[in-house]
Amino acid sequence: MIRAARAATMTGPVLEDAALIHDGETVLAVGPFSDLGPGFEGPVRDLGDATLAPAVVNAHTHLELSHLGGKTREGEGFLGWVEHLLSLPLYEPDEARVREELAGLKAWGVGLVADISTRNAARMAGILEDSGLFFVSFLETIGDGAPPSPAGAGPRGLRSLAGHSLYTTDEPVLRAAKAATEARNLPFSLHLAEHAEEEAVVRGGDSMFLSLLRQRGRLRNYVSPGVSPVARAAALGLLGPGTLAVHCVRLDDEDIRLLADSGTFVCLCPRSNAFITGGRAPWERLLAAGIPLCLGTDSLASNRDLNPWNEARYLLARFQGELGLEDVLAMLTVHPARALKMDHLLGTLEPGKAARFSVVPGDIEALTRRPHGPRKGA
Ligand SMILES: [Zn+2]
Repeated sequence: MIRAARAATMTGPVLEDAALIHDGETVLAVGPFSDLGPGFEGPVRDLGDATLAPAVVNAHTHLELSHLGGKTREGEGFLGWVEHLLSLPLYEPDEARVREELAGLKAWGVGLVADISTRNAARMAGILEDSGLFFVSFLETIGDGAPPSPAGAGPRGLRSLAGHSLYTTDEPVLRAAKAATEARNLPFSLHLAEHAEEEAVVRGGDSMFLSLLRQRGRLRNYVSPGVSPVARAAALGLLGPGTLAVHCVRLDDEDIRLLADSGTFVCLCPRSNAFITGGRAPWERLLAAGIPLCLGTDSLASNRDLNPWNEARYLLARFQGELGLEDVLAMLTVHPARALKMDHLLGTLEPGKAARFSVVPGDIEALTRRPHGPRKGA
């Protein structure tokens, strides 16, 4: 039994003086200690004045880029970042470093990781399998290479397909990858509306980025559809409740409506956006539109660590308006578990789910309890 002053079960209001019984694998019961405590004869771990929560989720990272931590350019804009990035050895992962990062994630209460890999998906999935974490390993399609059929479910995770972006992955490839994942009830993911350069490429404006890509022999035949990235993704049939759209920074009102009406999950990566472009998603409007939001760190090429609690801290310090504990926990637990189709095991504290938990850090509780309203100096 785990006893705690509070439990955020994510199935209803926060339970006071809560207890949870598990057998090491599976949650058996959750309820008030006054119901479950009397007569319980096993060991009790008392967390004291803490809030027990479901294991949290890092809904977007690229483990194969972990060796680039501290080696990339921060605050120089997307073009500066990507030009420098392309000069580095991108796809030669340091397996020891990846294992170290995953051990850190477990220590922070992470139970599920969504990993994107362009070149090393099978290797990264193997390391994830060994780590004891639950995972979704997305093989990222790029260019015009036809996607392989997704491998599907393994003992601890899913192997699925992602698109790199609307302009770096050919549209027929994106549609085929999306269709293949839908057919097998697997999640699909796509970087979408991340920065102004992407928006310019898709909308058809002047773009130094497009010139750079063409100099490198890429996108020679790309024809801009002349609409927003989200509108293009919708037109291609890439949105919907089976899709985790990552970033969603450059949005207009119609884009937000398209995301909301389609039931698309959106993964915010606030620190990565700040690192690369200094921009940020319209968090407040996305939340107000009822879009199920998730949090991801992106890779160590655009972030300092892979801890999703730090993403929450960053968001809480800058969010304009009310963002309660359950809103933040939803982004870290129940929404990403659903988005990644792992909600039969994770996302809530209830009987039948995997026995994986986290404890809400004290400063997160304090940040979600302070008086609401526009926050200064963040
Ligand atoms: Zn990414």
